Amino acid sequence: MSTAPLPERDWPLTQPFWEAAESNRLMIPRCSDCQRYVWYPEEKCPHCGGEDTPWEAVSGRGVLFSYAEVKHPLYPPYEDALPYITGIVTLEEDSRVRLVTRIVGAAAEDLAMDQPMEVCFETLTFKGVEGRVIAPVFRPAS
Ligand SMILES: [Zn+2]
Repeated sequence: MSTAPLPERDWPLTQPFWEAAESNRLMIPRCSDCQRYVWYPEEKCPHCGGEDTPWEAVSGRGVLFSYAEVKHPLYPPYEDALPYITGIVTLEEDSRVRLVTRIVGAAAEDLAMDQPMEVCFETLTFKGVEGRVIAPVFRPAS
């Protein structure tokens, strides 16, 4: 049985991300040499080639960079979530870090570009898929 779209939590490159989410923390790898965030995670820093990219907790605050409401069942495991809002949030620490995420706690018509957002954590399950994942999602900042 397929487990998609659940993440492969044992994959070393992203394992710390999912482990942090289990304890409601948002963590992003950051290069020890040039101090830039490395997102998406890579084995080496794409900016300077540095090989030391420890994971660092971030505030979870950012702004809405883009979003779209999904109303049609384009992918069967997401059918039960319809309608939902998918979005991109840039982080307060560095707006070059763009997280593809789900937007919760607001209707699409109440959202606006550059709106302040904050992370929260939801347990996601998917139709026809065994298992669940705790994932960082974003809501309008309180
Ligand atoms: Zn670097």
